[in-house]
Amino acid sequence: MADSHKFEAEVSEVLRLVVNSLYTHADVFLRELVSNASDALDKLRFESIETPSLRSSDDPLKIRLIPDPDKGTLTISDNGIGMSEEELRQHLGTIARSGTKEFVQKMQEAQKAQAEGVQLIGQFGVGFYSSFLVADSVEVVSRRAGSSVSYRWCSDGQDGYTMESAESDQSGTQITLHMKEDKKEYLEPHRLRALVTKFSDYLGHPIELVDQKDGAPVSEVINQGSALWQRSPSEVTDEQYEEFYKHLSHDWESALQHKHFKVEGTQMFAGLVFLPKRAPFDLFNGESKHGVRLHVKRVFVMDNCEELLPRWLRFVRGVVDSEDLPLNVSREMLQDSRIVKTIRKQVVNHSLAMMESLAEEDATAYKGFWTTFGAVLKEGLHFKAEEADRIAKLLRYETSDGDGITSLADYVSRMKEGQNCIYYAAGTSAEQLANSPHLEAIRERDYEVLFMTDPVDPFAVQSLPEFDGKPLVSVMSEDLKLGDSDADDKKDDEKDDEKDSDKDDESEILLSRVKSVLSEKVSEVRVSKRLRKSPLCLVLPEGGMEPHIERLLREQQLGLPAAKRILELNSDHAVMKSLRKLLIADSSEDTVTSLIEVLYDQALIAEGSPVDDPTKFAQQLTDLVTGAAGAALAGD
Ligand code: ADP
Ligand code: MG
Repeated sequence: MADSHKFEAEVSEVLRLVVNSLYTHADVFLRELVSNASDALDKLRFESIETPSLRSSDDPLKIRLIPDPDKGTLTISDNGIGMSEEELRQHLGTIARSGTKEFVQKMQEAQKAQAEGVQLIGQFGVGFYSSFLVADSVEVVSRRAGSSVSYRWCSDGQDGYTMESAESDQSGTQITLHMKEDKKEYLEPHRLRALVTKFSDYLGHPIELVDQKDGAPVSEVINQGSALWQRSPSEVTDEQYEEFYKHLSHDWESALQHKHFKVEGTQMFAGLVFLPKRAPFDLFNGESKHGVRLHVKRVFVMDNCEELLPRWLRFVRGVVDSEDLPLNVSREMLQDSRIVKTIRKQVVNHSLAMMESLAEEDATAYKGFWTTFGAVLKEGLHFKAEEADRIAKLLRYETSDGDGITSLADYVSRMKEGQNCIYYAAGTSAEQLANSPHLEAIRERDYEVLFMTDPVDPFAVQSLPEFDGKPLVSVMSEDLKLGDSDADDKKDDEKDDEKDSDKDDESEILLSRVKSVLSEKVSEVRVSKRLRKSPLCLVLPEGGMEPHIERLLREQQLGLPAAKRILELNSDHAVMKSLRKLLIADSSEDTVTSLIEVLYDQALIAEGSPVDDPTKFAQQLTDLVTGAAGAALAGD
């Protein structure tokens, strides 16, 4: 007797979506089932390296398509790894795959928005459940390699499935689809051939079509049956690359770019890397899997082989097939293998080349790539990748010119006569940075400023002291040079020295008073050259950290650098002149202290930082306004 089981709620939801939304894209069912069969063959081939008894050598690995027009069924069979009873339940009765969960979410959004969702749908892959696009009921008979018992899983795709023991003469899986009345076209051999050519020709396993000719079954291999990456690039169509990418990555969108390479010499290997369009949901989660799939002499060895790609390229998908590694290669062996180091270098090289050609060929597509993955690529700078020079050329930033994003090379080509540095401002948004007091004198000279708004930027830029011989300089750095040359900066200093000494004394009074009021908050107070309209600003001591980064670290409790910042005053500003007068007139201690504190808080607000004590700030401001209003009235 068969046991009945209910589907997990999410499975029912997927089935409902599949049947209601994908029905015009029923073709995809074959791609999904053949792709699963191929994975099952790969897994068996790999496990049988360790346990040869899992596989009988006279039974070549293959996938068979068996249409039976009399019964109205199509069977997709493989002699791969198979599934145990528990695995049938797990894999076909619940949603184990995060990609499918994501799909459900996307579909719900698309339906809610009534958007061009239906157009998108054709691109989604929903795995095994796509069987129900063409079948009224589905029967799966499977036997795990190495086991002697088989099980049958049956479902009509409504709300549950049944399980019972079954008979089968070999390990592997047979999926029999009882075709819907209006889907019988898929039983026609020419239709199956066309679909295999369209969707599954990248596979390295033979796909046999078993056709009834004059009552006797005739089988014929209908695909190329050679691993796609082993073919010559000139023999592979874009469509085949696309289908292979989807198979490899479980992505439903096509890749932005790919690079196919073969290395022949003292070492031999083939590789194929892809640049996805879409970020995986766990891109910034410390544990996110990365690396490319490793094959040895065509045999699948492992997914996500970390040794073949650095973390800063964790968005790259691909496959490598080595002729030199042993088939039973272990993780430990990979870690200090010279062969692996050589391969890794090439995978990195071709991954970067892929981005370089995308940047060159299609600026819009590159911008999309950059928005999605730029922050990850920048980690390569922070971790001192050997390829830092190539990464630097791939960087893009918004700038004070406000016209899209720019490369460093383009920035340099626009540098003004006499401008020696590449200026950048780091903060939380371009809007906030555009109004930053730190930019005033720079903007006056019409110099462009890069806006670095990614939290990783201040760390990455520390490893990028210069580009094309031009130093990268933060507009917040303490020794900001603005002059057309160092000599000019010195001239500025000399001019200051010539100013009459009375005024110097007055400045001194102001500086030392501000310093004593704010001694808890700032390390130094000095006269600024970078300000025009604003009365004061805070700058970074050497090696200091931008305030928004400091906040971020504090929020994540990653420990705080203790460095206080430097306060710069605009001595030409009216408010500074008034303060000086108040000090000379020896006005009330409290008023001056309060004014200085309010000005300090105002500098924080202007740079986009929160004030330390908002209640106190509001009270002090209210008092000041009250005083000013009173004075204005008294003056009338
Ligand atoms: P995915 O292939 O993305 O994991 P599917 O819905 O296509 O998702 O398949 C779910 C799981 O069912 C697979 O991961 C695999 O473990 C199992 N499975 C499906 N078809 C087969 C098969 N022919 N042989 C062995 N296992 C299979
Ligand atoms: Mg699948």
